[in-house]
Amino acid sequence: MEKVLTDIVEKNRYLLKEGKVADYIPALAKANPNHIGVCLVDLDGTITTAGDTSIKFTIQSISKVITLMRAVMDKGQDYVFGRVGYEGTDEPFNTLYKLDLPHITKPANPMINAGAILTTSLVHGSGDEKFQRILELTRIMTNNPNIIYNEEVYQSEKATGDKNRAIANLMRARGILDGDVEEILDAYFKQCSIEVDAEDLGNIAAFLANGCRGLDDYGKSSPNSLSSILLGIMVTSGMYNYSGQYAVEVGIPSKSGVGGGILAVVPNKLGIGVFSPPLDENGNSIAGLGILKSISEEFDLRIF
Ligand code: GLN
Repeated sequence: MEKVLTDIVEKNRYLLKEGKVADYIPALAKANPNHIGVCLVDLDGTITTAGDTSIKFTIQSISKVITLMRAVMDKGQDYVFGRVGYEGTDEPFNTLYKLDLPHITKPANPMINAGAILTTSLVHGSGDEKFQRILELTRIMTNNPNIIYNEEVYQSEKATGDKNRAIANLMRARGILDGDVEEILDAYFKQCSIEVDAEDLGNIAAFLANGCRGLDDYGKSSPNSLSSILLGIMVTSGMYNYSGQYAVEVGIPSKSGVGGGILAVVPNKLGIGVFSPPLDENGNSIAGLGILKSISEEFDLRIF
């Protein structure tokens, strides 16, 4: 198994040169463009790794899955999706303009920045409490109590987050978002700056693959309903505006982040964490996509 995985990493290494590390958040530009790694976690906890799986990076948009889960447990599915849509979009993740159209009353889905900022606002708690509740859930899902956020990336996001600030202010002006914009953005920037490695992502994915079982308290939700929501949303919008093609070509519910991570969930079978910083034009890890395509073919994991 380890040999197969190592071969897959090597086969996709050439892709590193075809992508570009994110630099719109200055601290992310420091990532090493040669890193590439993958971690598989099966449902009895067996871990198989290849490549750079203990390098820390920021979770970025993958946190949107965790925040959505937290918000649904706190507020219930009907309330959350009364405020944010279920539908995929062909717009990039930081799209803004549709939020100003008169007939639009909510962001398209919880995986674009607007939708994620909205779901962050719905997490219970004020001040730093929202972020702490998201962090706590991340520690449980990764099975790693040492997870923290990266202060430098957080500060960098905060200092350069004008587009996200515009998105949040526009939503507030239109009555889509309630609450203190700076406080909500602070929690959002911190959740994006949570540091993980590929193995942590593999563990989160395995938690989801195992039907979200194992928490003490599901609040206003349940393991089954969380699984349907999170995996459904990952399929339709987890890979941004590449989600459709990805569903056909790879066929595994996944979520990517501009830090180079991808979380991929094979229901009832396997969790996969991939890390490689160079991105394609949609903001997905380019070698990560290659690795997931290879893994899906090699182990026949397409769910469609
Ligand atoms: N923190 C990033 C942002 O808000 C997350 C985006 C991403 O990973 N696609 O722009």
